[in-house]
Amino acid sequence: MTATIIDGKAIAQELRGNIAIAAAKLTKEHGIVPGLAVVLVGSDPASEVYVKSKSKAVTEAGMKSFDHKLPADTSQADLLKLIEQLNADKTVHGILVQLPLPSQIDSTLVLNSVDPGKDVDGFHPVNAGRLATGQRALVPCTPVGSVILAKKMHASLSGMDAVVIGRSNIVGKPLAQLLLAENCTVTVAHSKTKDLKDVCRRADLLFAAVGRPEMVRGDWIKPGATVIDVGINRVPGEGGKTRLVGDVNFKEALEVAGAVTPVPGGVGPMTIACVILNTLRAACASAGLPEPKV
Ligand code: NDP
Repeated sequence: MTATIIDGKAIAQELRGNIAIAAAKLTKEHGIVPGLAVVLVGSDPASEVYVKSKSKAVTEAGMKSFDHKLPADTSQADLLKLIEQLNADKTVHGILVQLPLPSQIDSTLVLNSVDPGKDVDGFHPVNAGRLATGQRALVPCTPVGSVILAKKMHASLSGMDAVVIGRSNIVGKPLAQLLLAENCTVTVAHSKTKDLKDVCRRADLLFAAVGRPEMVRGDWIKPGATVIDVGINRVPGEGGKTRLVGDVNFKEALEVAGAVTPVPGGVGPMTIACVILNTLRAACASAGLPEPKV
């Protein structure tokens, strides 16, 4: 058996096209141009690449991008002052503070200072609470993108057994909430889970968000299951270079699963698309408009 490879790149491209259409409609009908402010403190190379691709995607969707690049020694007070300004700026609908922040800055304090209505990362406790209670919320981008990919494979996820490996606030927990909202029976596994392999083998939908290269082996996967690999791990490659692998052994998964996402080219592109989606959603909500259809 060879699994279907879920083409996250193509699905993200299609989503971005639909977001651009919805953004153009918002501008035409209501005079609103969605705007995203991205704040980067320091010069972590991976963060710089990520921020650049976000800004490019925002501009391509017909939205405004405001980049704030601050030096690594920026004080917490100065960063909080900038966020206060962005919270008050009517042209900014989404604020994204790139993590990790330098050690002199308390990340939780900073993330909690973002206006929940502009919190396109969905990390604010108000948004986490709204998601958990089934209210309109800005939801973290990677989990949203992961669920969209699973739904591309199944018209309905209702009644499916879903296993999420990982319980971080950024991925695992919000992903579990989204799957619950889709009427899945959800198991959240983590580093203290017993018999992880057996737990995974029960899953119709298996989501791996661990950060351990190729931890999920072929014999952890129920035949025919849909496997969404959130992990991004750098491992030594040929000629002293590094290469990216997921949390799932892709080659083995291909033999057993019904469908599987590759790394790269699976969840990663969806995360960026969902940042733009959340910016559009935040802009609509701020104007008292219903959820945009994309
Ligand atoms: P965290 O390190 O915050 O969380 C990892 C989770 O995995 C924890 O809940 C941890 O359990 C669990 N875990 C660790 N080791 C094991 C193990 N041996 N068995 C079972 N569970 C284990 O990571 P994130 O959630 O932030 O990210 C997870 C992965 O997703 C990373 O590879 C990251 O790079 C990637 N990622 C990808 C994104 C994308 O756009 N594609 C975006 C965000 C993240 P415990 O809680 O018990 O410690």
